[in-house]
Formats: sequence, structure tokens, C-alpha cells
Amino acid sequence: MVARLQVESPRREDLIDITPQVNRVVAESGVPDGICYLYVPHTTAGIIINESADPDVGRDILARLAKLVPDGIPYQHAEGNAPAHIKATLVGTSQAVPVQGGRLALGTWQGVFLCEFDGPRTRTVIVQVMGDKAG
Ligand code: ZN
Repeated sequence: MVARLQVESPRREDLIDITPQVNRVVAESGVPDGICYLYVPHTTAGIIINESADPDVGRDILARLAKLVPDGIPYQHAEGNAPAHIKATLVGTSQAVPVQGGRLALGTWQGVFLCEFDGPRTRTVIVQVMGDKAG
């Protein structure tokens, strides 16, 4: 089963917790045990799995990425959003998560986050659930 989630990013940069939407797709797929593959078809957005309990972790990640890839220094890319492309490259565009018991087998503190680096926009996340159906 393949689904395309539409995710609104209200800010220029943000980490948006999409765990509930992804778990809904997994539940609808009817796959009890398998793999959930997540893919972001964008060049200035990415996807990570990290701490979902404390929002300060996401703020720290964005702040550190901003120091690693600063605005306001020369880049060749004429569109003006080279830092967003580089940050998206650093975090990556896909994740694979085991599905167990009809849910993402995430750790207690983990969540799935769309990483927006050049918003606000509407982003797409492709969710592909693979495995044998129950029964
Ligand atoms: Zn660009």
C-alpha cells in the first residue's frame, strides 16, 4: 500500500511530527508485520526519526544545522536557498521503520519528523507499507 501525506509547514524551518499520520496509514494497510518506507520527494525538505517528547531537541537540531550551514555567506546556487538544499542533504530524504503489531516499531521517545528547510509550503511524504496482510 502506498499513500501520499500532505503536510503543511507553517514556518521557514520546522520539524513537524507526522508520527500519527504515518501510523494511520500503517493501520489502514492491514499489514501486521513488515516495513514502512518513508520518502520525501523534495530537495529542500527531509525526514528524520528522533526525540518526540521534548520539543527542545528539535529546536537544538535546527539551531545546530543553522550554525553548520549558515545563511549570508556566498553560495553558487542562484535561487538563494542553498542552505536549505544542504540541510536536506545532511538529514536525508528517506527512512525505513519496522512495522510490528500493526504499528511503527518506534522507541518510546522516538517520532517521525518532516524537516522543513525552505517553507512555508505544502510538502508530500510518500508512505509505502510492505508486508503480508493478516489472515
Ligand atoms: Zn534551490
